[in-house]
Amino acid sequence: MTAKIIEGKNISERVRKEWKQRATSLKQQGVLPGLAVIIVGDNPASKVYVRNKAKACQEVGLHSEIHEMPADTPESTLLQKIQALNEREDIHGILVQLPLPDHIDKDKVLETISVDKDVDGFHLYNVGALVVGNTVFPPCTPFGVQCLLEQMNIPIEGQNAVIVGRSNIVGKPMALMLLQKNATVSICNSKTRDLAQYTSMADILIVATGKPKMITGDMVKSGAAVIDVGINRMDDGRLVGDVDYESVSKVAGHITPVPGGVGPMTITMLVANTVIAAERTL
Ligand code: NDP
Repeated sequence: MTAKIIEGKNISERVRKEWKQRATSLKQQGVLPGLAVIIVGDNPASKVYVRNKAKACQEVGLHSEIHEMPADTPESTLLQKIQALNEREDIHGILVQLPLPDHIDKDKVLETISVDKDVDGFHLYNVGALVVGNTVFPPCTPFGVQCLLEQMNIPIEGQNAVIVGRSNIVGKPMALMLLQKNATVSICNSKTRDLAQYTSMADILIVATGKPKMITGDMVKSGAAVIDVGINRMDDGRLVGDVDYESVSKVAGHITPVPGGVGPMTITMLVANTVIAAERTL
C-alpha cells in the first residue's frame, strides 16, 4: 500500500478561505477581528512562528500586531501588557509565544490572558472547558489535526486513536478532542512499555514527541491514518517529523508530510479562533 498524502498546505489554504468569508461578514457588521501576538526575547524560531501567524491573519483580512519585548522584561511588565490588551476592544485574540525566558512564570502569564481572548486555548478555564467537552477555543495544533481528518473524510467515531506524546499543548488536548468525537483513545508517553503494541492497533496514529523518525513502518497498522505533528531540524538543515515517512508511507492509508502537513493547519486554526473570538463580541 502507498499512503495518500494529506496535503496540509493545500487544505489549509482552502479552510482559510472559509474563515476569510466569516471575517468579511464580521467586517460588514462593523467588527474587524484583531490578534495581538507578544514575543519576549530573541528566539529565532519563535520569531519566524510569530511572523507567520501575523502574516496569515493579514492574508485573511484580520488586523494583527506583534509586540516584541526584550528577553530581560520583568514578569510584571509582561502582565501589564497583557492586561492592557485585555482591555482593548479592537483586540479579540491574545497570544503569548512560548517558550518564555526562565524568570517568567508561564502559568501566571497564561492565566492573565482574558478567557474570552485566549485564542491559543491554554488558559485553565479553556483547558477545563475542553475536558467537559464544551470548549470555545480548542488549542490550535490539535484543532488543526482534527480539521485535517475531517477534510480528508477520515472517520473518527469508533476508531482506535493512539496518541504518542502527552504534552499540554498537543497530546493531551488531542486525546480529549478525539474522545469527544467518540474515538477510543490511548495516550502513550516516554515510559510506555512496548510502544509498538499500541501504535500497531491504531486506526488513527498521532505522533507528537519531538523525536525524529521514531515511528517506523513496522509499528503501523496497514491502512492507518498517520498524523505527524513533529518538527525537527536536522544537522544538515532539513526538517523531519517524528515519523519515518519513507517506511510508514508504504504501510499507512494516509500520512501527513513534514513540512507541509500539520504546521500550516496550526496557523489556520489560530485565524479561526481569532474570528470566533470576534464573533462572540457581537
Ligand atoms: P514535548 O517535549 O512537550 O512533549 C513530548 C512528548 O513526547 C512527551 O509527553 C514525552 O513523554 C513523549 N515522548 C518522548 N519520547 C517518547 C518515546 N520514545 N515514546 C513515547 N513518548 C515519548 O513536545 P510537544 O508536544 O511540544 O511537541 C512535540 C513535537 O511536535 C515537537 O517536534 C514540536 O516541534 C512539534 N510541534 C509541532 C507543532 C505544529 O504546529 N506542527 C506545534 C507544536 C509542537 P513524557 O511526557 O513521558 O516525557
